[in-house]
Amino acid sequence: MQYGFEGNIASKLAEKQKQGLLRSLSQPQGIDFSNNDYLGLANHFEIAKSAADAYVKYGAGSKGSRLLGGNHKIFEETEKWLANWKGTEAALIFNCGYSANLGIISAFCDSEAHLFFDKLNHASIIDGYAMSGGKLHRFSHNSPADLEKALQKANAESFKLIAVEAVYSMDGDIAPLKEYADLAEKYGAMLYVDEAHSDGILGPGGKGLVAELGLEKKVHLSLTTFGKAYGTMGACVFGSKLLIDYLINNARSFIYSTAISPGTVVAMQKAVEVSTRDNFRRESVLKISADFRRKITAAGIDCLQSETQIVPILLGTVERAQKCKEFLLERGFWTACVRPPTVPKGTARLRINISATHREKDVERLAEDLIFYIHSL
Ligand SMILES: *Cc1c(COP(=O)(O)O)cnc(C)c1O
Repeated sequence: MQYGFEGNIASKLAEKQKQGLLRSLSQPQGIDFSNNDYLGLANHFEIAKSAADAYVKYGAGSKGSRLLGGNHKIFEETEKWLANWKGTEAALIFNCGYSANLGIISAFCDSEAHLFFDKLNHASIIDGYAMSGGKLHRFSHNSPADLEKALQKANAESFKLIAVEAVYSMDGDIAPLKEYADLAEKYGAMLYVDEAHSDGILGPGGKGLVAELGLEKKVHLSLTTFGKAYGTMGACVFGSKLLIDYLINNARSFIYSTAISPGTVVAMQKAVEVSTRDNFRRESVLKISADFRRKITAAGIDCLQSETQIVPILLGTVERAQKCKEFLLERGFWTACVRPPTVPKGTARLRINISATHREKDVERLAEDLIFYIHSL
């Protein structure tokens, strides 16, 4: 050991290992059910080619943050196009969903603000809160009744932000957005919806859950991330010109970070074009997912309230989840073992992400192997 402080760090890692919570990097083997390439666009030729052409034409870098030299015309043209697609007044591209949530939540939540958020919200929303000065109210997962109780506690005059996801990343269930929109209206709160796992999958042409429920006028701000169903990278927030202007002035992760390259922005738009056009991708992923859920729930397996392409297989302990992952790997399937603190203690699980790239017979075989394994426990 070289430095004195390393003993301290090594013992923290050893403690994680003892609890079975040590993370390490690995490459998926076999058929991959862990990634988020739901529509199979990550290797789509047309999208890759449009990005490659743009890289050659405009260069690999953006040269600066959007406010200091990095604002290539491609950004503004694409934001206009994306806003038109979503039907909002304005849009703002962020480098990724994580940095968008840091910037959005911290920008709107100063020390006077009240932030209401679902207990299962993604780490990026939690971290946005950590950067903010606001007062946090966590409400029970997908519970408008619990949200209303929390809203009643805050001063009627105060600024209130409700932050939720449309489809939850570890549970695959769908948020009651209509009820949230009604509560936001009743209590004068701003409603923010992160569509990371619903965009490209739900709604007309994959335009997301807000569009599916016709809530465009009632949801004030929404987020699309391009690293999931769209198979590329980056993120875009949608809302009124007022809210977007506010973010340009206050979102630290937007202001203080070099913009992504114009080529990446070109890929974002192309991915939406391909996704909108290729309805068969969405239809396929939704059908295969529904068949898979039907099969395993009929066999008594708990997949929580999943209604989407994300299917959690609840196993409880880390050890049980890990063993199940290993069994499936022997059978040729790569799955994600999700452990605390990513999910609440005692709810370790395998997360099965279905994609349009999967063949029906492979998903059927996965269901059969899972049923066999869990019934033999
Ligand atoms: C993945 C994810 C993000 C982060 O998006 P990236 O573009 O991958 O940084 C944000 N919110 C939710 C709900 C996510 O699942």
